[in-house]
Amino acid sequence: MSSAVVVSSENLDEKQQSVSTPVVHAVEKKVNLLGMSRAELEKFFEDLGEKKFRAGQVMKWIHQYFVTDFAEMSNISGKLREKLEKICEIKAPDVVHRNYSKDGTRKWVFRVGDGEGSLVETVLIPAEDKTGARKTLCISSQVGCALDCSFCSTGKQGFQRDLTPAEIIGQLWMANYSYMEEVPVAERERTVTNVVMMGMGEPLLNYDAVLSSMQLMLDDFAYGMSKRRVTLSTSGVVPKIDQLAQDIDVALAISLHAPNDELRNELVPINKKYPLQQLIAACQRYLAKDGNESSRRHVTIEYVMLDGVNDKPEHAQQLLKLLKNLPSKINLIPFNPFPHAPYGRSSRNRIIAFQKTLSDAGFVCTIRQTRGDDIDAACGQLVGQVADRTRRAEQWKKKVAQQQEILRTQG
Ligand code: SAH
Ligand code: SF4
Repeated sequence: MSSAVVVSSENLDEKQQSVSTPVVHAVEKKVNLLGMSRAELEKFFEDLGEKKFRAGQVMKWIHQYFVTDFAEMSNISGKLREKLEKICEIKAPDVVHRNYSKDGTRKWVFRVGDGEGSLVETVLIPAEDKTGARKTLCISSQVGCALDCSFCSTGKQGFQRDLTPAEIIGQLWMANYSYMEEVPVAERERTVTNVVMMGMGEPLLNYDAVLSSMQLMLDDFAYGMSKRRVTLSTSGVVPKIDQLAQDIDVALAISLHAPNDELRNELVPINKKYPLQQLIAACQRYLAKDGNESSRRHVTIEYVMLDGVNDKPEHAQQLLKLLKNLPSKINLIPFNPFPHAPYGRSSRNRIIAFQKTLSDAGFVCTIRQTRGDDIDAACGQLVGQVADRTRRAEQWKKKVAQQQEILRTQG
């Protein structure tokens, strides 16, 4: 990123050149510092002829005090601030729509990219827990998703593009800032306590940008979040789970949704490439990496409850067998319907019976509360009014209509 900075030593005599810092010209497209990891920022300052520790100072202003104006960075010299103003900026994606629900849920729709751009969504869900008030932010990693799970409205949108680190961390920045806008800079604090990479997109298919964003989440000069409070959710990109194990220590959630390959192939098509046995083995390797010292004492298993599809007693029994040797907590997610969805939500009784089978066998099994319904912010509804650029949704609606027509004429 720092390549956009124009640095030259023209107009300096020979003696000056050997001791002075480079001359910096204003540039047309400014470098956005928001998404830079500590290592990238250190390099950026070194390239400018500045000391590395400036990176930490600037990171604190950006990610802990939510300052976007270099003039407010009081521990940076006037000269350096001027230099920075010429060539860089601190810019979160534009908010095109925001909605704050009565239950405390907040939702933002961001525009990313140039011109008309694309829209992505971010949701903040508050909850009380043992340690006090928890605020969990559900972050998107891509515009749309290529994986086309049959119950997911993001999948129906098709894949449009990866988000950049600035667009990913910008969601966290904006959520924190939304609580601090009116607070004087010196008194500002970080409000979001937990992050889940469970918004739009498959985070492991935008690996580098997601990794550097999560590094910022954990970095003490940025958000300083506990590694147990940052969770990456994946539908099961097995080789990337192994890479993640090497690169960072965060909590892992798996979108399982089916206890056998036949059903999972239908619901989560990436299962055809990485079937259940391979996925469970990758989870076991992930947990084995750093033992009890890390965030990796268990994986979270997400299981969306689809009426009559994956919610029967035999499915619960199969799930018990599948997870026998994997330390896991199971989260049952009542299906959130969307227009033309081919599924219904399992009944409350069905979900409770399913939960009982798993709890009786010793698993911690929770039922996700549906929150933020009044602002269309519940899981799997993240694409509400987001534009469809790939026509997958259109083709899919056509297919559903054709099938309905066949059924009607046959019946
Ligand atoms: N691609 C990643 C992360 C984003 S999906 C993954 O699949 O894990 C976040 C979670 O929401 C996943 O568990 C997904 O399966 C679930 N989800 C998607 N559509 C849903 C719907 N309509 N109702 C309930 N949960 C849904
Ligand atoms: Fe993509 Fe996850 Fe939705 Fe599947 S559930 S289509 S992987 S976002």
